Amino acid sequence: MTMRSHSPEKLDLLTAILDNAVEGIVVCNNDGELTYFNQKTRELHGLPPEPIPVDEWSSYYSLFQADGKTPLAPSEIPLIRALNEGEIRDVRMVIARPGKAPVQLLVTGHALYSPEGKKLGAMVNMLDITQNLEIQEAMEKVAERSEARFQTIFEQAPFSIQLLATDGKTILVNPAWKKLWGFSEEFIQSYILKEYNLLKDPLLASHGFTPLIEKGFSGEIVRIPEIHYDPKELDMDGIPRWVRSILYPLKNPDGSVREIVLIHTDVTSEYQARTEKEKLLGELNQERNRLDFLDHVTSLLLTTLDYNEIILQVASAAIPQLADGCMVDLLEGDKIKRLITRHANPEIEKIMGELQLNFPPQLNSPHPGSRVIRSGEAELLKVLDHKIIKEHTLNEQHAELIARIGVRSHIAVPLKIRGRIIGAISFLITTVRPGFDENDLTLAIELSRRAAIAIENARLYSESQSANQQREEFISIASHELKTPITSLKLQLEAISRSISKSKLERIDHEYLKKFSASSIRQLDRLTRLVEDMLDISRISTGKLALNMRVVDLTETVKEVLPRFSDQLAEMKVELNSELADDCIVYCDPFRIEQVIINLISNALKYGLKKPILVKLEKIQQQVKFSVIDQGPGIAEEDQERIFRRFERGSDPLMAGGLGLGLYISREIIEQHEGKIFVSSQIGHGSTFSFTLPLENLT
Ligand code: ADP
Repeated sequence: MTMRSHSPEKLDLLTAILDNAVEGIVVCNNDGELTYFNQKTRELHGLPPEPIPVDEWSSYYSLFQADGKTPLAPSEIPLIRALNEGEIRDVRMVIARPGKAPVQLLVTGHALYSPEGKKLGAMVNMLDITQNLEIQEAMEKVAERSEARFQTIFEQAPFSIQLLATDGKTILVNPAWKKLWGFSEEFIQSYILKEYNLLKDPLLASHGFTPLIEKGFSGEIVRIPEIHYDPKELDMDGIPRWVRSILYPLKNPDGSVREIVLIHTDVTSEYQARTEKEKLLGELNQERNRLDFLDHVTSLLLTTLDYNEIILQVASAAIPQLADGCMVDLLEGDKIKRLITRHANPEIEKIMGELQLNFPPQLNSPHPGSRVIRSGEAELLKVLDHKIIKEHTLNEQHAELIARIGVRSHIAVPLKIRGRIIGAISFLITTVRPGFDENDLTLAIELSRRAAIAIENARLYSESQSANQQREEFISIASHELKTPITSLKLQLEAISRSISKSKLERIDHEYLKKFSASSIRQLDRLTRLVEDMLDISRISTGKLALNMRVVDLTETVKEVLPRFSDQLAEMKVELNSELADDCIVYCDPFRIEQVIINLISNALKYGLKKPILVKLEKIQQQVKFSVIDQGPGIAEEDQERIFRRFERGSDPLMAGGLGLGLYISREIIEQHEGKIFVSSQIGHGSTFSFTLPLENLT
C-alpha cells in the first residue's frame, strides 16, 4: 500500500478509519522497514522512537510463538512472511511485553503490489483473541467437569436414559435402561445400538407419536404419554411395561441439536393401580346403576296389578337401559304366546312384528325364548354369528329376518314362579353398543325374577277377584237351588193340608197321595244332594274327604246303582242301556265311587236331551274304565277342562245347570283313588264322561 499518491484530506480520513479498526494493522515497505502502525498496533506494541532493524523486532516487540515462550525468529514474523511468501492466514503469535499480560493474536497478511505488479511491501492485521481463548479454555474445563458429572448420573441414575444421535440411532444406554426394558446384552449390541431408530419405532408410529418425536429432534423438549410396550406383540426381546418418556435435545452453542437424551419412567405399577382403581370404580358404578335400575323397575311394577301393564312396564324399563329390544313370551298350556315385541327403533319393531307373524315361537321350536322355557335355564349369546343364528332359527327365511333385525347379542331368561316356568323374556342388542356380558345376564335374570313375581301377584289378584265373584254367584245359585225344592215341597204340603181339612182322611185319593209322597221324596233327595255336595266341598277344601277303602267288584256296584234311576228314566221317558264287563275288581271307597257314577248318569239325564244313554264298564289292560255316553249337545273344547273346576258350569245359559260342583267333587274323588276322570265330546255329537281306576289283581 502506498500513501504517496493520495491527497492530504483523503490520507487523514484513511488514517482515522484505520486507527478505529479493532484489529492491529502494520505495513512495511519492500525493504522491510515499518511504514505504518495503526492505533490498535500502537496499543499492542508501544511505538519505537526510531525504526528498528527487522532482526531486533522480535526482542523489541516481545514477539513469541503461540506458546507465548519461544521468541519468533525474524523469518517467522508474520509481516516478513507476508512480504516473502505473498500471503499468510490465521497465524497464531503472542506479544508478551514485560510487566504486561501476554496478548494472543491471530494474524493474517499479504504482500502489497503496485498496479504495475511491482512489490511495494506487505501488511498484516492482527486480531486479539486472548479473551476468546480464555472462554474456550474455561468451557473446556467446564465440559470436562460436566462430562464426569454426566457419566456419574448416566451410570447411576435410577431412571432409564438413552442417548441418541440426531439421525435417531442410539449412541448409548445406561444400566437403568437395560433393567427397565429387560433386553439381553446381545440384543442391545446387535439391534438397539446398530439398527434401532427411534424416528422409525413402529410402536411409537402406531400411536401417532412420530411427529412429536420429530419435534424433539428439532430442538423442543417433548413428553411422550404412557404407552404399553409388549415385546411379544412386537416380536422382540424384553418384558411388558407401561412407560412414559421425555425427550431432551442437547444443543450446540449455535443452537443446533447435537444429541437427544431420552428418559423413560416405568409407570407399570402406577398404571396398574390406577386402572385397578378405575375398574373397581367402574364396577361399583355399574352395580349402583343396576340397583337403581332394578329399584326403578320394582317401583314401576308395584304401581299395577294389571297383567298386561306389567309386561309393558318390564319391556319399556329394559329399553334402552339394558337392551335395544325386548320380547315377552308366556306359556299357555303347551302353547307359547308372544305377548309383546318392543324395540327402540320403530322400523326394527316392525320387522320384529313380521318375525312374530311368520315364525311364532312354539314350545318345540329353536327360538331362544322357547329353548329357555323348555330348559328353565337362562341363555346368553354374546355374539351372534351365522352358525348361532342357524341353530336358533327354523329355516333360511327365519335367519334372514333375524339378520334384517340386526341382532348382534341376545339374552333369554325364563320367567319362573316357585320353580314353575311361566314364560321367557328375550333381550336383544342391535346397535353398536357392546354386546351382552355376564353382568347383563345377572341383571336380566333379576329383572325376570321381579317381573315373574309381579305377574304372579297379578294372577293371584285376578284369581281372587274371580273367586269372589264366583262365590257370590254360587251363593245366589245355591239359594235359588235350595229354594226351588223347598218351595215346591211347601206348596205340596199346603195342598195336602187343605184337602185334609176339607174332606175326611179316608176319602183322600190314594193315587194322589202316592204321587205326592214320591215327588216330596224327590225334592228332599235333591235337597239332600245339594247339602251333601256343599258339605263335600267344604271337606275337600279342608282336606277331610276321608276314604273308606275296600276291595269292590265295580260291576256289582254299577248293577246295583242302575235300577235306582228306573223311576226317573220312566218318568222322563229316557232309554238307558249298559254294557258291563264282569269282575271289574277295584280297591276303592264304594260309597264315593257310587257317588261319582250317580253324578255322571244324572248329568247325562240332565243334559242328554232325553236321548238314549249308554253306560259302559270295561277292562282295559290293568285298568277299569267306566263311561257314560250321551247324545246331548256336547261340550265345546275350550270348556272341557274348565267344567271340572269348582263352581264352573257350562257356557250355554239356556242349558239346565246346577251348582257346578258335581264334576269337581267327582274329579277330587277319582284323583284321590289315583284314577283319572275326563270327557271326550264334540259339539252336536254328545259327550262321553269316563273315569278309570287301577284294576285290582286278586291273584
Ligand atoms: P252342574 O251340573 O251342577 O252344573 P257339574 O259339575 O256336574 O255341575 O257340571 C258342570 C257343567 O258341565 C254343567 O253345568 C254343564 O254345563 C256341563 N256338563 C256336565 N255334564 C254334561 C253332559 N253330559 N253334557 C253336556 N254338558 C255337561
